[in-house]
Amino acid sequence: MDTAILQRLVAEIEAFYEHPSAVSPNVTAETIRKHLQSFDFQQPIELNNLFEEVCQMMRHWNVQISHPRYFGLFNPAPTLSAIVAEALVAAYNPQMAAWSHAPAANEIERHTLHYVARKIGLLSPQEARPSEVLAANFTAGGSEANHTAVLVAMAHHFPETLEEGLLVLAKQPVFYVSELAHNSFDKIAKHVGLGLRALRAVPVDYDLKMDVEALQMMIAQDIAQGFAPFMVVGTAGVTSCGVIDPLPALAAICQKHQLWLHIDGAWGGAAAFSPTLKPFLKGIEMADSVTIDAHKWFNLTMGAGMFLTRHPQANANAFKVRADYMPVSEEDVAVPYLTTMQWSRRFIGLKMFMTMAETGEENFAKIIDHQTAMGAYFRQKITAAGWQIVNDTPLPVVNFTHPELVARGVAPDTVLEELYAEQQLWISSVTLRGQKVFRMCITNFKTTEADVDFLVERLGKV
Ligand SMILES: *Cc1c(COP(=O)(O)O)cnc(C)c1O
Repeated sequence: MDTAILQRLVAEIEAFYEHPSAVSPNVTAETIRKHLQSFDFQQPIELNNLFEEVCQMMRHWNVQISHPRYFGLFNPAPTLSAIVAEALVAAYNPQMAAWSHAPAANEIERHTLHYVARKIGLLSPQEARPSEVLAANFTAGGSEANHTAVLVAMAHHFPETLEEGLLVLAKQPVFYVSELAHNSFDKIAKHVGLGLRALRAVPVDYDLKMDVEALQMMIAQDIAQGFAPFMVVGTAGVTSCGVIDPLPALAAICQKHQLWLHIDGAWGGAAAFSPTLKPFLKGIEMADSVTIDAHKWFNLTMGAGMFLTRHPQANANAFKVRADYMPVSEEDVAVPYLTTMQWSRRFIGLKMFMTMAETGEENFAKIIDHQTAMGAYFRQKITAAGWQIVNDTPLPVVNFTHPELVARGVAPDTVLEELYAEQQLWISSVTLRGQKVFRMCITNFKTTEADVDFLVERLGKV
């Protein structure tokens, strides 16, 4: 094997890791498509040349989410151990579908997921038989984990539908999310056959948290009208504004009405790993199931989500099948093809295992706390500069607006167009309480005060 290309790969990774290119691209689809015309897959291209071509495109024609001034959408800069893990997974390419094909990979994932489950309180440290009280698996991302949650909650509440389908039910199942919940639930409502109307959007309070009284009224009304409520989704770290729904209150309501409590902590779930932030997630330990993305605040490469539930039986019922061409497995192992949505499965969990092992719990908490501190630093600087913050969260997402911009009728998106064209930083906009505002998030562990100062200074000129 000619390994020269591998040396170049290492050099490119090294160079990019230290110096990501311009934050945002300035390119049209037409330019890229025209360029791609020369790749017609007819004449083979020498790998060294191909490598150069691909690097050029990746460097210049993507938003660089690894850049310390990408204040974006929960997309992290990956750790070095995550990049190494990805390379190892590609090289070894274990097939995880059956435990017996990849005992090492499966057990590494199980070990890591049990650690996560203990950190969020779904598994007690003394538990001698964890697989009897917990099912957990890595997913492609938060959407798949949320989708899994709805399927398992349905298997738990309406087991007869696994054989007979939804039409066997006398009452229409309905479930509840905050109106600011992630829109993956819209897709999921359609995909599980419940339909969008079965997804009840609960209004938020003035502080943008799910309004608990409204939730209670909606449940009561649905029951009175002959619907079958089965699930409430609380978000821990709303995508647009970072707020955490009142999880203990949601847990109490779910207990009262025997509903499944799912907590979507795709981004914010990582806060459980910081002793400072953990109290804000109180209630997560009462969840029936939890989503946490590993490719968000754990600083890992995409795609890596985690799904955890304290109902292994419902989980098994939701996914079990019989396939006589698959290898038979031993007892007490989670066999991914029998317990998850995917069949052939990539070794997703290695980057989480390696990153946690290399970083260590205490240092990982420091990384989380550093990002939180950078968020607080931005809040302080931007308010001092006359801007108004319109969200309230301990997590590093800041929504803000300026009364003068509003008075001048300047839309945030007009400002964003200018910023993107300069390619020096990346923030976004979102609508909260009917008003378009800016959104920034500290989503890179390498972001420093100097990067935040850069942003504040540039905003001072709009
Ligand atoms: C990002 C996000 C999701 C979706 O996760 P993906 O990994 O993008 O599939 C779900 N819920 C919340 C709250 C999110 O922030």
